[in-house]
Amino acid sequence: MNLPVDFTNRMKNILGNEYEAFIASFDMPNVKAFHINTKRISKNQISKLIDNTLSSPLNDITSISQVRDYNSYIYEGKIGRCPASHAGLFYSQDPSAMLPVVDIPFEVTGNEKILDLCAAPGGKTSQLSMFGKVLSNEVVPSRNKILISNIERMGYLSNLVTKAMPDELAAYYPSYFDIILVDAPCSGEGMFRKYPESIDEWSLDNVKLCADRQKDILSSAVTMLKPGGHLIYSTCTYAPEEDEDMVEFISSLGLSKLKIQDSYFVKCYPHVQQGEGQFYAYFEKPASEDSASFDTIYNPSQDKSLKKPSNKILDIIRKTLKDSVDITNLNIYESAGNLITIPDDYIKLPPHGITKAGIILGNIEKDRFVPHHQFFHCLPHLFKIQVNFEEETEELYKYLHGEEIFVDGTPTGFGVITYFGAAIGGFKSVNGRLKNYYPKGLRNQ
Ligand code: SAM
Repeated sequence: MNLPVDFTNRMKNILGNEYEAFIASFDMPNVKAFHINTKRISKNQISKLIDNTLSSPLNDITSISQVRDYNSYIYEGKIGRCPASHAGLFYSQDPSAMLPVVDIPFEVTGNEKILDLCAAPGGKTSQLSMFGKVLSNEVVPSRNKILISNIERMGYLSNLVTKAMPDELAAYYPSYFDIILVDAPCSGEGMFRKYPESIDEWSLDNVKLCADRQKDILSSAVTMLKPGGHLIYSTCTYAPEEDEDMVEFISSLGLSKLKIQDSYFVKCYPHVQQGEGQFYAYFEKPASEDSASFDTIYNPSQDKSLKKPSNKILDIIRKTLKDSVDITNLNIYESAGNLITIPDDYIKLPPHGITKAGIILGNIEKDRFVPHHQFFHCLPHLFKIQVNFEEETEELYKYLHGEEIFVDGTPTGFGVITYFGAAIGGFKSVNGRLKNYYPKGLRNQ
């Protein structure tokens, strides 16, 4: 690997006699892992899921082992086309990249409002979404789309996704979030092994540019943090300007550093542990006397800016879903040509920059309601008809391939195919024939 001389000289200084081991790690294969979506599968079913995944004909896993006692596994081989993946039961992520969320040194109750400010492709958003409501922001349009598709596949219900610069969000959300993650855009030195093409983008000037940008992002993050709230800062670089110096910069903004493993930060190196390079640190904003006054609950049903559908549209939906879903208790809104539902006690909707809010139920085409994939995949419990698989049968593979399948005794109406109770996608059944509603772009080829 052709590493820049300025980079290797800096690393020699930082690592001293560990440098040779560090350089040798570039010749080792990168390590693959996934975390389990515990929102969609109960803990006591995980070992059966892992057994199924290991023996799945579409995977080729040669070894698997658990990451600490966390619900994550390191594996060798291929994974990703099996039913567990379609059902959003796991998310592939570098094992070191998991640690900033795994190691959180403060208590998380599940009621927090969380902001993931630099969120795509969504690995850490996926971990945070298992805690509660998350605003996942990504400023780059193509990456924002990938973020949405990953959140959709994982079936999370309480994610708002925006495409905004941090200072735009800060103007709307002062002192709003209990937890903010800044997984900052960085010089990416820790990714050189996994993505050798990133080496060409590296320079000392770029390190400086990244550090300046991180300061801007962090200043906005601190504005948005509620008094008493917590900031997680992480990068995938070893550059001290973006790591240790940024810890001091955050302190200078008035936040206190929290200890983790007897230190104020953790730095992961590929020659020391499995995974790529990663740096992380935690901070707390001082509580103020009126901290409690920041605890506002936002219910979309009271938001006057959200458009309610007409009675005619509601009648069309009711008629289409009459054998399948009772919509009485659903809060339905019209948004950008779609009918959506948003759970109560959501993240407050900003006036601009929303790319995903709530779950799309479907849309009206020629006076008929056409259900959307998100409806089946994210709200399966609303459907009266469900066909569950706990083994990888031929019928299930046919469904993933986009074919019509036959399941004797299935009542007529719209329903959901589930795997370990987690939804994959929808169907419309007539006399036991299940017409496939799994979107073309998601099917196995
Ligand atoms: N947290 C992500 C995950 O776990 O999958 C990885 C995030 S990546 C390290 C940093 C992200 O920040 C990139 O997706 C990048 O597009 C985004 N970004 C770039 N410039 C930014 C800016 N000025 N403010 C906020 N985010 C930015």
